[in-house]
Amino acid sequence: MKSLFIDLLADYIGHFGFLLMIALAVVNVAKKNRKNKNAVRTLVKNQNSNLNEPVSLHPEINPALCVGCGSCVNACPEGEILQLINHKSSLVSPTKCVGHGACEQSCPFGAIDLVFGTKTRGMEIPRISPDFETNIPGLYIAGELGGMGLIRNAVKQGRLAAYHAISKLKNVKRTTDVDIFIVGAGAAGFSATLAAKEHHCTYRVIDQNTFGGTIYNFPRQKVVTSHPLDLSLAGQVKFKSNIVQKEKLLEIFSQIVERNQLVISEKENFISLKKLGNDIFSIETSKGVYTAKKVILCMGVRGTPRRLGLANEDLPKVAYSLIDPSDYQNSAIAIVGGGNAGLEATQYLSKQSLKNKVHLIVRGGPEDAFSRANEQNQKLIRELEKKKQITIHYNSAVQTIEKDFILVKKFSHDLKLQNNFLFIFTGAEVPFKFLMSLGIIIDKSYGEKRKLSMAQY
Ligand SMILES: Cc1cc2nc3c(=O)[nH]c(=O)nc-3n(C[C@H](O)[C@H](O)[C@H](O)COP(=O)(O)OP(=O)(O)OC[C@H]3O[C@@H](n4cnc5c(N)ncnc54)[C@H](O)[C@@H]3O)c2cc1C
Repeated sequence: MKSLFIDLLADYIGHFGFLLMIALAVVNVAKKNRKNKNAVRTLVKNQNSNLNEPVSLHPEINPALCVGCGSCVNACPEGEILQLINHKSSLVSPTKCVGHGACEQSCPFGAIDLVFGTKTRGMEIPRISPDFETNIPGLYIAGELGGMGLIRNAVKQGRLAAYHAISKLKNVKRTTDVDIFIVGAGAAGFSATLAAKEHHCTYRVIDQNTFGGTIYNFPRQKVVTSHPLDLSLAGQVKFKSNIVQKEKLLEIFSQIVERNQLVISEKENFISLKKLGNDIFSIETSKGVYTAKKVILCMGVRGTPRRLGLANEDLPKVAYSLIDPSDYQNSAIAIVGGGNAGLEATQYLSKQSLKNKVHLIVRGGPEDAFSRANEQNQKLIRELEKKKQITIHYNSAVQTIEKDFILVKKFSHDLKLQNNFLFIFTGAEVPFKFLMSLGIIIDKSYGEKRKLSMAQY
């Protein structure tokens, strides 16, 4: 009797287990179908709104190699830019791609190539070899100046460029002031300097501003997302759940500088360089002239902020970066720019405790004004707008800057806004003309593949 009961129970559990498996499979298929539909909807919506041209380095997916595993979808730090459509990865929100390259590195099947520009929209980019060497032997470019964003990419490229340069040092017989000259002390330059020190090379690293580069200029307490960073001499630097505040990141970097007694020359501007013979460089800076066997340019792309080109833009109330939001209280503030930098500044400055009246001025309409910003920032801005904590002026542009007000052109009429501070976040002048003056070739890329040896060493 007991064994009959156990048999029946086992039978029942067996059936139940089977049904449960079927139910889970059905739920899973329904979920995938829903995701597929959403992805198609996003793709079509972006195509119809002309948001189908990526503006920087972006993935090109080879459908013949893509097996639809979704590792690239999960790897993208910017949210749902890549999605699976019919079991193949697809770039559904191209304008939001900022060229991290995490998708390429995550694909186990080599189905993703990173490309600049598209067949219809060319993009300028310095010519560099897979080892980050420019067309001028011995002169390297690493970090965001080479076209790829993110701190961890800059760190990796700085290290790899330096390792390649170091491996070629023995070919240079002439004596120089230093082995390696590094321009820029942001993430890439810092990492290159550590690599030089690790290999007992002599070096000089300069920065026109301050150690830390773009990170230093982030707003106070900005949350930075980053995967672990591999730094020469320091090993792997890990963060709690991949997020860390700007101050903490700079503190970690500064401790590494101190521990390794790195010497960084701040407030020293790189002016020019030339080759002395075939193998060494003469570098002119605001503090002197130096010779070096190798030069690594880690100058980033934000040295010169893009201006509006208006009269009175030099007034002290106009700024191109925001470091400490608490410096701005009880004020009428306008922010120009719908990218991440503009949206983040708007969030900080509209904190209720600061009691500011904040206007965000953007060129696009409600549909596409924030197409380049990440989903999180878009969501937060929409919430602030809904709560009436900020006023967003769509299809608008600043026309006139005066001491106490600005005139904003909105459709056919002008709007006069009281204004104590004006923040402009419309990108930066990429220093390609300067690079060309040094003899570096700038290519216009129409979707050609770009292979960098990111996986080496
Ligand atoms: C608003 C915003 C938010 C971001 N958030 C994140 C994030 O959360 N996570 C992330 O990983 N990345 C983020 N990024 C991107 C990341 O900050 C950059 O990709 C990275 O810091 C670039 O490092 P870099 O060393 O190449 O250049 P930079 O950090 O820009 O350093 C370049 C340095 O070169 C110096 N320089 C330039 N020209 C000269 C010259 N002529 N002479 C001497 N020195 C010179 C500059 O002063 C600067 O210090 C963000 C960027 C922005 C703008």
